[in-house]
Formats: sequence, C-alpha cells, structure tokens
Amino acid sequence: MNCGRELSYNDIGAHKKFINRASKEFLCRSCLARELDVPPKLIDAKIEQFKQQGCTLFI
Ligand SMILES: [Zn+2]
Repeated sequence: MNCGRELSYNDIGAHKKFINRASKEFLCRSCLARELDVPPKLIDAKIEQFKQQGCTLFI
C-alpha cells in the first residue's frame, strides 16, 4: 500500500505475521522492514523460519 510494488504471497504473509493478521492492505517486505525498523534480511530470515515451522502464510 506504500510504494506500489507488486506484492508476493510471502510479502502479504509477512505483513500479516508482523503487523496485523486482519489487514486488508499490505506493505512489501522493504517497506515492512522500514516500518519495523529492522534490516530487510531479518524479515527474510524470519520468513524462512516460519516456513520451516509449517506456517501457511508463506510458501
Ligand atoms: Zn513497499
């Protein structure tokens, strides 16, 4: 909803996981990282971790 970039399934999952599950509008991973004030790499690492736990928000 911020930069107009096309969102991947994982971007949307990350937003749901880190911000709000009920969101209707989503941030891409780089905007999300800025919003949370963390490096984008950390978001990617977290996504990997959730994926391995079998989280269905990520593919
Ligand atoms: Zn963005």
